[in-house]
Amino acid sequence: MTLIRHVIAGQETGAADRTGPVFNPATGEVAAEVAFASADEVEAAIAAAKAALPAWRSSGLVKRADVFFRLRQLLIERQDELAAILTREHGKVLADAKGEISRGIENVEFAAGLVHLLKGERSEQVARGVDVHSVKQPVGVVGAITPFNFPAMVPLWMTASAIACGNTVVLKPSEKDPSASVYLAKLFEEAGLPAGVLNVVHGDKVAVDAILDSPDVKAVSFVGSTPVARSIYQRGTANGKRVQALGGAKNHMVVMPDADLDGAANAAVSAAYGSAGERCMAVSVLVAVGDQVADALVAKVAAAVKGLTIGDGTDPSSDMGPLITREHRDKVASYVTGAEAEGAKVVVDGTAQEFDGDGFFVGVSLVDDVKPGMKVYDDEIFGPVLSVVRVDTYDEAVELINSSPFANGTAIFTRDGGTARQFEVDIEVGMVGVNVPIPVPIGAYSFGGWKNSLFGDSHIYGPESIHFYTRSKVVTTRWPDHTPSQVDLGFPSNH
Ligand code: NAD
Repeated sequence: MTLIRHVIAGQETGAADRTGPVFNPATGEVAAEVAFASADEVEAAIAAAKAALPAWRSSGLVKRADVFFRLRQLLIERQDELAAILTREHGKVLADAKGEISRGIENVEFAAGLVHLLKGERSEQVARGVDVHSVKQPVGVVGAITPFNFPAMVPLWMTASAIACGNTVVLKPSEKDPSASVYLAKLFEEAGLPAGVLNVVHGDKVAVDAILDSPDVKAVSFVGSTPVARSIYQRGTANGKRVQALGGAKNHMVVMPDADLDGAANAAVSAAYGSAGERCMAVSVLVAVGDQVADALVAKVAAAVKGLTIGDGTDPSSDMGPLITREHRDKVASYVTGAEAEGAKVVVDGTAQEFDGDGFFVGVSLVDDVKPGMKVYDDEIFGPVLSVVRVDTYDEAVELINSSPFANGTAIFTRDGGTARQFEVDIEVGMVGVNVPIPVPIGAYSFGGWKNSLFGDSHIYGPESIHFYTRSKVVTTRWPDHTPSQVDLGFPSNH
C-alpha cells in the first residue's frame, strides 16, 4: 500500500504509525494510506519554514517572480498528470479537474506580478525636508489548511500569494485527497523554490491544532466547512494570529419571469450538479419568481438531467463522478429521502438510481416546494441536490437570500438591467452573478463570502491576499539639511 508522506524542508518524511485511508471514490477501494502528522512533525515543518524565511523574504523580487513564471509553465505541461491525481482521489471528471487546474493557474499568474503587487507608496515633502514611504513586508510563517473539494486550486489560492509576498508556508491539505498538494510542492521545487519555503503536512485536528497553537505561525488561511472555519478563526485569533477562515455555503440562483428560461435551466443544471455538487459555489437553491417560472424551470431541469451520465471520472463520457466518501454519499441521500416528510416534493429522486460496483455514486435529485425550516433547505448538503423555492416577487427572493446565514455566492437571471443592478445593491452576499451561475472571481479579484461563509476580514487570493500576507510599514524620513533645528515638545504636525 502506498504511503503518502509529508514534505518537510524538501524531504519526504513520515511514518505509518498513524494513518488514514485515501479512497478511489469511483471504485470504493482504498488507493493509498496517508500519514497523519504528530504535533512534533508539524513543529518540524514550522521550524523548516522558519529557517527558510530569512533567505526567501530577502530574495530579489524579479528572481522570485521567475519561480511563478516557471510554475505556470509546469502546471500547463503537467496538467494531465495532475488532473489524473485529482480524479483518482476526489472523483471529479477529468474535464472538471482540468478546469480546477486552470483556475489555480490564474492565482499563479497573479502571483507572478509580485514586483508590481509589492510596490509601496511614497510622498515627497510632507513637511519641509520630510518624505514618507510605505513598504509591504511578509508576515512570516503562514499556515494553510484546505478542504477536499478543490485539492489543487485551493492550495494554490493560498500558497501562490503567500509565497510571492516573501512568506514561507506549512500547508495541511485535506486528508481525503492529499496527493495533489505533494505534487504541487514538487512542482514548486522544480520551478526553483528553495526547500523549506513550502512544506506539506498531512493529518487531522492534531496537525491543525499544532499550526494554530504555534507562536511561530503568524497567519492562517483556512477553507472548509463553517463549524470548523469558526473554530479555526476563534483559536487562531485567540493565539494572536491573523486568520481568514472561509466556510460553507448555500447558494441561491434567482430566476425572474423575464429571464431566458432555457438558458437559466441549463445554467442551474450545470452549477448544481457539476462536480457532484461538491463546490462551495454550487447552486443549491433555485429561487423561481412566480409559479409559471417555477413550473417551467422544474420541467426543463427534470428533462435536462435525464441526459446526464454519472460514472467514473476517468471515463470521458461521464458528466458527473462519485461523492468523496461512502458516509457523505449516504448523508446526501438522506436529505432527499427525508424531504417528502418535511413537506417538499421530490421531482427527480437520484437515490433510486442504481450503480454497479462499490463506488460512492448517487444520482442527481431535484426537490420542489422547498421552504426555510426544512433540513433540505437549511443545511449545506454538498451533493447533487437542487432545491426549488417558489416566491411571488423579487422582494421575497431578496429577503429569502438575505435571511440565510450563509452568504458565499448568488446569481440572478433576468433580461432587465435595472433589476440586475438593484439586486447587486440589495443582496447581502460576497459574490454575485448576473446571468452567471458560478461567479468565482478571476484571479485579479479576491474571493470571499459574507456572514457564516467567511470569518475574518480579508477575502482570499487577488489583491486582498497581498494585504493579508503582508504587514505594512510606514517610514518618515528627514535627512540633515542646513536649516537651524529647535526643540519642540508638541506632537509633530505637518501643517
Ligand atoms: P472540513 O471543514 O471538513 O475540512 C477542511 C479542513 O479542515 C481539512 O484539512 C480537515 O482535515 C480539517 N479539519 C476537519 N475537521 C477539523 C477539526 N475539527 N479541527 C481542525 N481541523 C479540521 O471541510 P471539507 O469537508 O474538506 O470541505 C467541504 C467544505 O468546505 C464545504 O462546507 C464547502 O462549502 C467548504 N468550502 C468552502 C469554500 C469557500 O471558499 N468558502 C471553498 C471550498 C470548500
